[in-house]
Amino acid sequence: MVEPDRLNRAVTRLDAHGFQLHFHAIGDRALTEILDALEHARKTNGDTGLRHHIAHLQVVRPEDVYRFRALGVTATIQPLWAAHDDQMDDLCIPVLGEQRAAWQFPFGDLRRAGVTLAAGSDWGVTSADPLLGIHVAVNRVLPAAHGERVVFLPEQRLNLATAVRAYTSGSAYANHLDDTGSLTVGNRADLVLLDRNPFDGPPEDIARTRVLRTYVEGALVHAAD
Ligand SMILES: [Zn+2]
Repeated sequence: MVEPDRLNRAVTRLDAHGFQLHFHAIGDRALTEILDALEHARKTNGDTGLRHHIAHLQVVRPEDVYRFRALGVTATIQPLWAAHDDQMDDLCIPVLGEQRAAWQFPFGDLRRAGVTLAAGSDWGVTSADPLLGIHVAVNRVLPAAHGERVVFLPEQRLNLATAVRAYTSGSAYANHLDDTGSLTVGNRADLVLLDRNPFDGPPEDIARTRVLRTYVEGALVHAAD
């Protein structure tokens, strides 16, 4: 939506002024142009220590996967979309064509390239439930679609620990919240208590997990009925 020259200038100036930038890139060209702009900023300003990050990442050119780590850019993933459903099968794949359809949501490739993953939902247009997102990140099948839909690009599945880290320490990192996101002595006690251990069961059951209690800085803010 912004021409590359203008994007390069804006990103470089904002980076120089200390703004941490959050982009939404759905198409492959948009992502390339954002990475180009961040590279321009890096060459001009050096490493400003800002944790710029890019969300959506629906169509990613394979050669762009490796640029995230080189530029210190965090990939903010919304895994709930990385599955076969009517939108994917009827709207996306036929329009994208075979090559680009296979470049969608390459979370496994990003992880293998050593890219820092954060995770979120783009809530407002989709569910904010992180357990649903984790379910699809691991299975690449929506919870209600097991047995009905095939796994979407199975090599891009994440293991459960990686998916949980993206939603916890990864998202804390993207927000410069270095004193939360992990169970560490001295960290803020931002915690959830779950009704089952999702690591102890088949991956298809992850979405069955329920949050019993939520604590923010040690204070109980939510308890299930
Ligand atoms: Zn968005």
